[in-house]
Amino acid sequence: MAKNIQAIRGMHDVLPHSSPHWQYVEQVIKEVLSAYGYSEIRLPIVENTELFKRSIGEVTDIVEKEMYTFADRNGDSLTLRPEGTAGCLRACLEHGLLHNQVHRLWYYGPMFRHERPQKGRYRQFVQLGVETYGMPGPDIDTEILLLSERLWQRLGIREHLELQLNSLGTTEERLLYREKLVEYFTSHSDQLDEDSQRRLMSNPLRILDSKNPQIQQLIANAPMLMDYLGEESKAHFSDLTDTLDELNISYTINPRLVRGLDYYSKTVFEWVTDQLGAQGTVCAGGRYDGLINQLGGKPNYAVGFAMGMERLLALLEAGNRLVNQPTVDVYLIVVGDRAEKASILIAEKFRNDLPKLKLQMHCGGGSFKSQFKKADKSGAEFALILGDDEVDNDKISVKPLRTKNDQQLMTHQEAISLLQQFGD
Ligand code: ATP
Ligand code: MG
Repeated sequence: MAKNIQAIRGMHDVLPHSSPHWQYVEQVIKEVLSAYGYSEIRLPIVENTELFKRSIGEVTDIVEKEMYTFADRNGDSLTLRPEGTAGCLRACLEHGLLHNQVHRLWYYGPMFRHERPQKGRYRQFVQLGVETYGMPGPDIDTEILLLSERLWQRLGIREHLELQLNSLGTTEERLLYREKLVEYFTSHSDQLDEDSQRRLMSNPLRILDSKNPQIQQLIANAPMLMDYLGEESKAHFSDLTDTLDELNISYTINPRLVRGLDYYSKTVFEWVTDQLGAQGTVCAGGRYDGLINQLGGKPNYAVGFAMGMERLLALLEAGNRLVNQPTVDVYLIVVGDRAEKASILIAEKFRNDLPKLKLQMHCGGGSFKSQFKKADKSGAEFALILGDDEVDNDKISVKPLRTKNDQQLMTHQEAISLLQQFGD
């Protein structure tokens, strides 16, 4: 017998019992985003490989080893997007959206990285991305933090998330710091792993982002970027933290936070939980003014974040925050030849009069008893029962499934009035 074909490792199905949880979170996300006046942008999943190399940085985990890159039939090098910031900016530049304009955008969808699959780390995963353009901050930096915090509040998980902040300063400040960092790591180069050895010359800041537990102590004692910031970067950062203090939003300053991508400057942040083991960063982002120029645009301002939906859902599940809502309000039981003939029309009549009612009609026959069991299992509040008698008298029986109340025979109109509670 032929072997069953399976999904690709690290790429998961969302089955019908979980999709309502996703829909619930997606709904809350959309409500929060519109409360701040953000608009959706829909972007392609495949982009030219060059876009990611130029934006994320050649010497990053993503570009060095995680991208799904392939030659298409024309021989062009294409890549399944590993993140959305580059594509979003590419689209805005391409359509001239950045010229003297301010934008608050979001996108939602799958990203692809060839990582080692483990809990909270997949090869296909879903991100919500938020990107804003044209605002120098720090007011907009604060806004996107408040927006994400409001989302945690709405979802009831604020207490499980810690906000970590850092400032990466300007390119010039980082260059100065880079020298100090190279000096420090060179004097300890015997303790560096192979990746970090290689990055020492090409991209030493990346060493700070290493996940290798063996070099964490070395990283902890490294010079701190905070100590090399200029006046303007310092003022930007303290303005942000002052507002957070005023609003009573707690945070910790993490001077080692550099993020896994090269394009950040000034504010960077992560929302981190201790509930999910090693993969504890649920949402991460910051300011990346320089990227616009790097991709060919005029100097401008940008700040944004990306949120990992699988990690967010795992956190909600860990806190028992996901309730299973029944997908059906009413289950229509159909017994007898005349009833089977009439049932489709009657079901449509109910749907016409009650557009929001979730009515599932039994298909495929079977005894009353077996259909009744299915009605009960569906989670429906009521069973509508259509037998030949009901059809002959132009009536329908209504049986409450979750209370002890009796079954009642009524006209269609009476049943529709009774079901009005499910909305019209
Ligand atoms: P990590 O340090 O966990 O590898 P990252 O710095 O690579 O994360 P970003 O590129 O900033 O992550 O992506 C933003 C968010 O997207 C992460 O905080 C996480 O929630 C989620 N994410 C990133 N990679 C994965 C993955 N392979 N599987 C599931 N979620 C992911
Ligand atoms: Mg990563």
